[in-house]
Amino acid sequence: MAEGIAARQRTVTVEVGGVAVGGGGPIVVQSMTNTDTADIEATVRQTADLARAGSEIVRITVDREDAAKAVPHIRDRLLQMGVKVPLVGDFHYNGHTLLGANPACAEALDKWRINPGNVGFKDKRDRQFSAIIELAIRYAKPVRIGVNWGSLDQELLAALMDENASRSEPWDAKQVMYQALVQSALQSAQQAVELGMSPNQVILSCKVSGVQDLVSVYRALAARCDYPLHLGLTEAGMGTKGTVASATALSLLLQEGIGDTIRVSLTPQPGEARTQEVLIALEVLQSLGLRTFNPSVTACPGCGRTTSTTFQELAQEIDAFLRAQMPVWKRQYPGVEAMKVAVMGCIVNGPGESKHADIGISLPGTGEAPAAPVFIDGEKAMTLRGDRIAQEFHRIVEDYVERRYGASHRPD
Ligand code: SF4
Repeated sequence: MAEGIAARQRTVTVEVGGVAVGGGGPIVVQSMTNTDTADIEATVRQTADLARAGSEIVRITVDREDAAKAVPHIRDRLLQMGVKVPLVGDFHYNGHTLLGANPACAEALDKWRINPGNVGFKDKRDRQFSAIIELAIRYAKPVRIGVNWGSLDQELLAALMDENASRSEPWDAKQVMYQALVQSALQSAQQAVELGMSPNQVILSCKVSGVQDLVSVYRALAARCDYPLHLGLTEAGMGTKGTVASATALSLLLQEGIGDTIRVSLTPQPGEARTQEVLIALEVLQSLGLRTFNPSVTACPGCGRTTSTTFQELAQEIDAFLRAQMPVWKRQYPGVEAMKVAVMGCIVNGPGESKHADIGISLPGTGEAPAAPVFIDGEKAMTLRGDRIAQEFHRIVEDYVERRYGASHRPD
């Protein structure tokens, strides 16, 4: 456990297609496709992209008969491609009907996500919720009971509002909403267990779109149950706002030991790959020291001492180079994901920061001699000159990886 991070307290472990969620195990990265699930080709392609980017569980929408019928084909195609990522079906309103009528879909999915606010209304709610839970028990599938404040059970909220109104000192309306979110999740979980579902089949989430709201709701939820918790800021938005809001909310809770799986619900910007949400989730966990996925590149921000873009280009190139190598390196060079590379812009902090990294280069700032010292394991190893610094540094990094993490250098 990284220093300063509270230990996670969930005692329940849920297995999702071979991936353990909760029970103090590694925090699992999830994502969701935005393709029409009935479009098998597009969904297979995007699911494979998300999995290759590092998503360990992928959720797909199952909203109608065509989508439900496509699910087993999607599963088969992925397996043929060697992509074994667990698939989760996202059901709203008609999940009981779709799962009942499509056994192959029910079987092909590794987990079902149901939203207690969207299962049905009034007397239908309990009947339809029970129908899904009974199917999940029959197929031995875990479920995520995923409450969302945009679709919160309105009857429960109204009842809690009435109860609040009768208090001598009524709570703030926000507190009542938090309570409604948490109660909706816990009551649904209780109902599922009373119907015969094992607690080891239940994961909970209570998503809201405000950072402080999310922190308050999850603190309350974590204090009142032992189920694994799926964490994410819903409708986080796009670009910088979505990224920062998600990273902030997730980090605050993960630091307190709350959260067993995470998703970054980013709205892709035009032309942006869906995999961006996965890269951010990986980066959040790696930045917190909770998991290690890729070698990290430390680069200075640049300033008036770096009037050329050479060092920005080199930092970007090295980062892209390391990411591109990782699918092969991960198998060939165990431990390489923890490597630290520094690419610095001038002599002020360059040599110092480079010495702290496993391998670092300090490029010449404006007015400095055109020489780039390279530091390996804290020692100055060589100085690069000329216009092929980038290519030479790539080769030096490759040699270092082979030397440090290659088979001939591992203990027997
Ligand atoms: S290392 Fe040099 S170039 Fe980079 S921010 Fe510091 S002073 Fe500026």
